[in-house]
Amino acid sequence: MLHGYNPPHRYLPYLSWTEIVDLPDKENTVIVLPTGATEQHGPHLPCAVDTVISAGVVGHALARLPANIPAFAMAPITYGKSEEHLHFPGTITLSGETLLATMNEVSESVYRAGFRKLLFVNGHGGQPQVMEMCAREMRLRHGDFIVVPSFTWRVPHVAGKYLSDKEKRLAMHAGHAETALMLALAPDTVHMERAVVNYPPVFESPLLSPDGRPACAWSARDFGPSGIIGDPLPATVEQGHAILDSLAVSWAAAITELHHLQWAARPEPTWGRANHTGHVEHSSALA
Ligand SMILES: [Zn+2]
Repeated sequence: MLHGYNPPHRYLPYLSWTEIVDLPDKENTVIVLPTGATEQHGPHLPCAVDTVISAGVVGHALARLPANIPAFAMAPITYGKSEEHLHFPGTITLSGETLLATMNEVSESVYRAGFRKLLFVNGHGGQPQVMEMCAREMRLRHGDFIVVPSFTWRVPHVAGKYLSDKEKRLAMHAGHAETALMLALAPDTVHMERAVVNYPPVFESPLLSPDGRPACAWSARDFGPSGIIGDPLPATVEQGHAILDSLAVSWAAAITELHHLQWAARPEPTWGRANHTGHVEHSSALA
């Protein structure tokens, strides 16, 4: 069935519409949307990496969630904005405009169903800006909608204890951390015998790039023919399970926090009235 890594009872598409109507406390139920991509990840990993990782981490987090914390995963978004990888076959990309429209319309549907807390767990480094634009748009349309545009790796995790300093500094794609996590989540799709080391050149402007990563826009083929940007060779399945566990624990805690969070609704301005599109109508008394 479709629920993938999620416990079936926490997979929103398995509910009927009447069951969703009857859910208690929908305002504080956390809806989690794993946001992935379908794009090349070197010769050793499948194109589904960013979707597998975001959906896998969310599923493992929901499995650890106490029963009294209401939260559901949505079906992941499997196509993202992957233009920097389009020279490699297997990459399926949406434009930024299409992804933004998709995110806005999915979010609007979540709101329409009565939910007020939406968490994006995004697995692809090429699109956080789109999620942030969507979250802000939802905030302006609906003052009582809390939308958190987050990144899979933003919460505390243990990957850092396995990575070399060079990997921490320069790896960006299909490197040690992603490969280890894939060994834990989808081992049959990983082919370590095809993995190669490929680091980008250090960007030689300390002011433009304090950490040496490219400060200019890049396309994956700028760094060579493999599509890898990092060193996947030291990755092991044991590391992958440790990283996965740490991410799942942290995301379960974050979902719990979001469930309890009572963030103040937007105050009504004293000089006017905000309508549902965020535009402010001046009251005639002040005109
Ligand atoms: Zn990736």
